[in-house]
Amino acid sequence: MNQHLRPEPVPFIDIASQRRRLGKTLDEAVAKVLAHCQFINGPEVAELEAALAKFSGARHVVTCASGTDALLMVLMAKGVGEGDAVLCPTFTFCATGEAVALTGATPVFVDVEEQTFNIDVHSLRRGIASARQRGLKPVAVIPVDLFGQSADHDAVAGVAAEEGLFVLDDAAQGFGASYKGRRLGTFGLATATSFFPAKPLGCFGDGGAIFTDDANLAETLRSIRVHGQGSDKYDNVRIGLTARLDTMQAAILIEKLKIFEDEIAARNRVAERYARGLGNVVTVPRLAEGCTSVWAQYTIRLPRGTNRDEFAAALKAQGVPTAIYYPKSMHQQQAYRGFPVAEGGVPVSERLSEDVISLPMHAYLDEATQARIIEAVRGAIAG
Ligand SMILES: *Cc1c(COP(=O)(O)O)cnc(C)c1O
Repeated sequence: MNQHLRPEPVPFIDIASQRRRLGKTLDEAVAKVLAHCQFINGPEVAELEAALAKFSGARHVVTCASGTDALLMVLMAKGVGEGDAVLCPTFTFCATGEAVALTGATPVFVDVEEQTFNIDVHSLRRGIASARQRGLKPVAVIPVDLFGQSADHDAVAGVAAEEGLFVLDDAAQGFGASYKGRRLGTFGLATATSFFPAKPLGCFGDGGAIFTDDANLAETLRSIRVHGQGSDKYDNVRIGLTARLDTMQAAILIEKLKIFEDEIAARNRVAERYARGLGNVVTVPRLAEGCTSVWAQYTIRLPRGTNRDEFAAALKAQGVPTAIYYPKSMHQQQAYRGFPVAEGGVPVSERLSEDVISLPMHAYLDEATQARIIEAVRGAIAG
């Protein structure tokens, strides 16, 4: 009717298309759980953990209630707390530093690389020195595989080994990506991921998982997940959480994991089309040597002098939604302003917050719709 006035809006993330593709298999998976009624720790939970272990190559997988819990549980298991410093990039979703602060430890924010948006190991070294100057004991580093691209895990491991830190990889956005031919889930001491619906592998609610090759750590995590249970739930040997993944979500994830590889390939085709269509008008994301991405976000940088609000409004008028990840880095947030920043500051993160903008990205973005998005972006830049 009024489609001449207002173009049909494009979805930013299209969960409905995937739902249609999986249709009956999801209905049947949920119906099975409704029939057996083991809503907590049902057979699907162990089945999913085994499938995730096979997919990632990690020896042990402990599912849990969210990506934030996944991070927190590893820090709790390692006894991280007051007086400890945990280094993490400031340009990330707040959960990375939040999990640290929840333990009583101090998050120390470090800068990211301009090209990949991932942790800068030079800033990491400066952050470790800054932590020590404040009398804190650096114990861990949390690299983030931001927007789906794996961080430089060899470089992080090198610094961590020299400085005696353990590595907890925050792969909430990057699960399914690889580094030098190895899937995420196998780097550092442990890897945390999230199954929040908008993540590359999402469930229909909240969920998360921890990956590790360390059998003792996995056992401790299984205890923490159920109130620090010992021989049974009513024997409490440590302080824990209620942090289990629901059986229903596990049943859904088992089905979604079966098509995940195919969806990752589709996301990469979408990213390639964006790069071809936009590479000469904006700064498109680049994959570093040895890194792949699952494209949790397709984040571009606007040319200097472009008004980002006007750019977003111009796209919106064409029915193209955008999002800004992240308008503020963690150290700029009210709740985290009191925590230390690496010596030398975090200038790259601060610049990124001013000029990044993310475009619609999902496995079901067809060529015609994407051509419309590309045209809208080019038109808005030409002004
Ligand atoms: C989403 C996200 C988390 C937290 O995951 P939840 O399941 O929402 O708790 C942690 N870190 C990063 C980088 C994220 O994007």
